[in-house]
Amino acid sequence: MAVDPPRPAPDASDPRRGIPPVDVVLRDPAVVDHVALLGRQRALGVAQEVLSRARDGALPPAEVVDEVATRLGELVAAPGTRPVLNATGVVVHTNLGRAPLGEAATAALVAAAGYADIELDLATGRRGRRGGSVVDALLRAVPEAQDALVVNNGAAALLLAMTALAAGREVVVSRGELVEIGDGFRLTDLVESSGARLREVGTTNRTHRGDYERALADRAAGVPAEPGPDRAAGPRPDVAALLKVHPGNYRVTGFTSAVPVAELARVARAADLPLVVDTGSGLLEPDPALPDEPDARTALRDGAGLVVASADKLLGGPQAGLVLGDADLVARLRRHPVARALRVDKLTLAALGATLRDPHPAPVTVARRAEPDHLRTRAESLREVLARQGLAAEVVPHDGRVGGGGAPGVPLAGWALALSEGLAGPLRLGDPAVLARVHDGRCLLDPRCVPPAQDAVLARAVLAAAGRPPAGGDTGTPTGGRPAR
Ligand SMILES: *Cc1c(COP(=O)(O)O)cnc(C)c1O
Repeated sequence: MAVDPPRPAPDASDPRRGIPPVDVVLRDPAVVDHVALLGRQRALGVAQEVLSRARDGALPPAEVVDEVATRLGELVAAPGTRPVLNATGVVVHTNLGRAPLGEAATAALVAAAGYADIELDLATGRRGRRGGSVVDALLRAVPEAQDALVVNNGAAALLLAMTALAAGREVVVSRGELVEIGDGFRLTDLVESSGARLREVGTTNRTHRGDYERALADRAAGVPAEPGPDRAAGPRPDVAALLKVHPGNYRVTGFTSAVPVAELARVARAADLPLVVDTGSGLLEPDPALPDEPDARTALRDGAGLVVASADKLLGGPQAGLVLGDADLVARLRRHPVARALRVDKLTLAALGATLRDPHPAPVTVARRAEPDHLRTRAESLREVLARQGLAAEVVPHDGRVGGGGAPGVPLAGWALALSEGLAGPLRLGDPAVLARVHDGRCLLDPRCVPPAQDAVLARAVLAAAGRPPAGGDTGTPTGGRPAR
């Protein structure tokens, strides 16, 4: 790793001669089981960090194996998820659990951990509608919706809509909207797993109103979806719904055309079919900073029958899927047997309700809107703390990202602290773990998604990763740090 100092020429009296090679450490009987549990890559990172301390003279070579065994043992024993400081500048980071919850949502989560009035009306003592107060909060936030339903995630909301409205029938969708939502999951496969058949119209870059109308006219004329030898005798195509998907994680630019919700809603109404709009990111109302991002209120006002979305992207809540819209359509989804399998637990309901009622903006919104000047000041303060301990770094302009399937390509102007690339590994393995952005051979720490109250924790984590833990844990004063290399 780049943090290793250059190794001096071997010298018979140099205690560093006794440092075992990393492969020998990882094969040691005291270590080998941990390596199997954690995976070689993770174990290697820990071993390299310990070896680098031994080479610095901070650890006697004879203690290397024991120290690696202890550190790996701690990782094995640690709870399944560890908190991470997100210094990547990516606000909705899918690999870091997407949206961090706000204070109110976190408190609600803890309060709901015991028994809670999830399906009980405390005023009457009778059984209440599960999560009724969350639905109320959603309807207050989106008055255009007649009813709402909360399920496990955005994919579940779409699956339920397709299952309840279109199983065994056809759904008309533009070819430009058949996206893969991450980790190999494709919307096409998801929709078809509901038993609905996709009737693709238009092309990758351009779809027109006429493309939808022709698909619906074919339906009226009884032309089968896939022309073949049995065309005349083929099954009568049976379109059940129109679907519009917002491709949140990529952008088609150049010669493009899509049919807006309002126009598609007119086509759907003329055919007496529901229009389902998957907005993806979960914005409930328009955000001027993200002009290309659809929102639930506008989509419903423009005539969508149902809007489905994720709650843990731009809405900034817990993982959940939202269904909003026409009362009859929502009721069909709620009554479908599959709804029970996609039901959210009380913790999700508690956190979502608190997120919706919170007068403060969600952490993802705060991070998205962070002032570049403020980010620069925080990066500068961090630079100064590190410099006092002899660790040089540079403050550089750095664009953050919305990430996580929202506003692709929209840069969020800001600043980051640039350190040597070799620090990224030790930072990930530190406590707390810090995820930096590695770019152009540098390790970049962007303060955008780090809560300001955690700046001192971040500074300590960087110093520890660089082998300069300050004495007394006080990063504010230049006392007791080990001398700079
Ligand atoms: C993210 C996304 C989904 C999936 O939502 P999850 O909450 O991840 O299940 C579906 N459709 C679109 C358009 C998305 O952006």
